[in-house]
Amino acid sequence: MKINKKILSCVIIVSLMAGCLIGCSKESNIVSSDSKQNTKPIIEETKIDFIKDGTSDYVIVYPANATENEIFAANELQYFIHGASGAKLSIVEETDDFETGKYIFVGATMAADVAKVTPTYEELKYNGFVIKQIDDDVYLRGYSDIGTRNAVYEFLYYAFDYEFYAADEIRLTETKNAKMLAYDLSVVPDFDWREGNYGEIIYNPTISHRMRFNETEEIFVTGHLTHNSMKIIAPTVYDWKSDKYKDWFSETVWTGVGENEAEKPAQLCYSNDEMRAEYTKNLIALIKDSDAPNMLMGMEDNHDWCTCEACSANKEKYGTDSATIIQFVNKVQKDVDAWFAENRPGEEPTHLVIFAYYATVNPPATYDEETKQWKPIDENVVLNERSGVMFAPIKAEYDIPFTNAEVSDVTKPHGQVLGWASLSKNLYAWTYSLLPQSGLLFFDTVEVMQQNYQLLLDNGTTMLLDQTDMYQKNINTGFSRLKAYVMSKLQWNNALNMNELINDFFDNYFEDASDTMQDLFNQEREWINHVYANLGATGYISDNLVDSTYWTYNQLCSYMDLIEEAYEDIEPLRETNPERYTVLYNRILLESMQFRYLMLSIYYTEYTEAALMEARKEFRYDFERLGLVTYRENGNIQELWSDWGIQ
Ligand SMILES: [Zn+2]
Repeated sequence: MKINKKILSCVIIVSLMAGCLIGCSKESNIVSSDSKQNTKPIIEETKIDFIKDGTSDYVIVYPANATENEIFAANELQYFIHGASGAKLSIVEETDDFETGKYIFVGATMAADVAKVTPTYEELKYNGFVIKQIDDDVYLRGYSDIGTRNAVYEFLYYAFDYEFYAADEIRLTETKNAKMLAYDLSVVPDFDWREGNYGEIIYNPTISHRMRFNETEEIFVTGHLTHNSMKIIAPTVYDWKSDKYKDWFSETVWTGVGENEAEKPAQLCYSNDEMRAEYTKNLIALIKDSDAPNMLMGMEDNHDWCTCEACSANKEKYGTDSATIIQFVNKVQKDVDAWFAENRPGEEPTHLVIFAYYATVNPPATYDEETKQWKPIDENVVLNERSGVMFAPIKAEYDIPFTNAEVSDVTKPHGQVLGWASLSKNLYAWTYSLLPQSGLLFFDTVEVMQQNYQLLLDNGTTMLLDQTDMYQKNINTGFSRLKAYVMSKLQWNNALNMNELINDFFDNYFEDASDTMQDLFNQEREWINHVYANLGATGYISDNLVDSTYWTYNQLCSYMDLIEEAYEDIEPLRETNPERYTVLYNRILLESMQFRYLMLSIYYTEYTEAALMEARKEFRYDFERLGLVTYRENGNIQELWSDWGIQ
């Protein structure tokens, strides 16, 4: 069923659109459907006016000495309430002598303390929040100010149907009259920490916050610097070729990529006690200046590991190199805890997190066929209760759910997750949803996303980064914005019905072209299933799908026909609403890019020479106008233009 939508008005970048809360029930024929419905729970109205004839008596209050997040939260509230209703609420800092009035208290205000709205870490973790209406007032508060920031969007969801589909497509229902709702909510996301990794999101904190994603810097002490071991023990500072320090590093040498091209040791030697003492000292210096609660102790980004006598003996004993770094982190965590006890008593010490990645991806655990349980090989490889593991299965197949493999198989993520869960209560996960070699193509992890997330959640994963194409700095084709939306929703609440999310996205984002674009999406998904099942693609992220093995000329032509049909769907808007027409036109154009790229890369012989030149130049023009920057990871777009003869 097609939903009729009406455009109400536009507020800067926010399109205010009539909602689609019911009736979005068209089923995709790809994913299995079930009876779940993403319905909005009803919160009863109070008798108090919130918005009356487009005005409001409410005032937004943030605490004296408010944090950046609390001020941001107050501004967001003001901005979207104004966008939906026309009422512009004042924002004031809290003082001791408030007169009676109607207030929305944001964050750790004294008023919230007095009203006993004082949530704890145990109740909410870092990203959860409460929203509570008491008398005339409403309180939005997390245990942390990140939770407070998230609370704003939940408040807006109930008040104005706030829904973030894309940076330029945020739904709000225009509301000129509304009673305040009797809020009494306590909300905790499924994964406490969630990081949106598309360039459009990661380089724009406001977009990230509006999707309720976290910034890397608020999760981890060294932020995006994840492979940080040689920043902590730099082989140039501790001369790795000298007799004094050579045993601090692996014998194996590695040549990095990009700006780190210089030759250096592949990894640290995590068995070396002298190195550990210095590492701990340097680590504490980093932690001291950061508010982030986690420190990722990142090994270097290569397959190698130290092969000294001690490291080799440990590998021999436990069957995996991860045993060595577990023992290392347990000792470092003890020292960090002691430092906190002495210097910052009463504070939760930083959680140290190791990578389960390449050489360390397998847990030192075994599967017991009798009990059907994973268990530690011995107690020396159980992680400290405060430390954690970042499970990053870069060599997994992402075309099938993790749970399709035998649970006893330690070489596959299913067994690995359960094995790690037997060693640590604090799992963090870094999964992959990108094809670095085929950076413009749709990587259909939508097929496995919900099941993989559930396996991670069932095993206590508190943080998830589902890596996408951050090298595409602004925006990407390949249904990336749809994937970003679905990721943001499921990582927050994995019980949502994915088909409904997809339908809802298409209806709101492509509007009159929704059915056609969804047809295109479904056809491409069906084809990609066939590519993995029958044409030899592996499901590894290293697949390069820009190859005639995987696409037929006729297939691509039929996709382009659907793109043309989508343009026709929106044609009436060209007259009635040219501004909206342009927005929708560009969204369809963006999705045309992956198919045109394939056509011009692998079926160029189908064109006359002149037509090929023309089509490639037109592609480049659209590519640049839409803000695309590259066609693969570590790729320079000039290489493509040069290959195509249009530099
Ligand atoms: Zn070693």
